[in-house]
Amino acid sequence: MITLALSKGRIFDETAPLLEQAGIRALENPETSRKLIIGTSDNEVRLIIVRASDTPTYVQYGAADLGIAGKDVLLEHGGEGLYQPLDLHIAACRMMVAAPQGFDYARAVQQGARLRVATKYVQTAREHFGAKGVHVDLIRLYGSMELAPLVGLADAIVDLVSTGATLRANNLVAVEEILPVSARLIVNQAALKLKRGAIQPLLDAFSKAVDSNG
Ligand code: ADP
Ligand code: MG
Repeated sequence: MITLALSKGRIFDETAPLLEQAGIRALENPETSRKLIIGTSDNEVRLIIVRASDTPTYVQYGAADLGIAGKDVLLEHGGEGLYQPLDLHIAACRMMVAAPQGFDYARAVQQGARLRVATKYVQTAREHFGAKGVHVDLIRLYGSMELAPLVGLADAIVDLVSTGATLRANNLVAVEEILPVSARLIVNQAALKLKRGAIQPLLDAFSKAVDSNG
């Protein structure tokens, strides 16, 4: 039995067509089912539904053989024990620094004053600003980052942006790109060795599905 960990929402939605191209169909819809273990049309493959930020942890400890996780989540996790063979090119967005319209980010960064930055992505933000030599006080949030600058909790935020609609709705503008983000296939390193015969065909099928989607 092969176990694939993934989160519902956009990761599941965008993975389902790839799975179908690999001949695997979920037997229940995780959006409506309360089940956290979902069988598939392939008797040897099951899905487990986890919180997006927990996916690497399930795979790292071998509770899942494979997983699908955003680059954002993998950077925060650190990638220990994980083999990352494939960029699936799904759930694409960009990790950005954003600030209130009118905030002079370039100047704030130049002046060497401490910048207060609110984010869910503390590791990535620390590395980004560290590499630039910018002093930051990082404030860890778990969601609704856009609110922080509006109520004086932070000068800027680090968040994922796709259309920019949420930023605009809150009078924020993206002032710097940190990195492009997409979802990756991850594999438990030990499982890959022990179950290579079952896992490799799945990797090949994913790879073929990704290529055929251009
Ligand atoms: P959660 O809110 O639990 O983190 P999401 O479904 O919002 O779950 O995000 C899951 C993954 O989807 C993220 O880790 C990221 O890789 C990707 N993602 C998040 N926000 C966006 C976005 N605006 N556009 C595209 N992909 C996104
Ligand atoms: Mg979200």
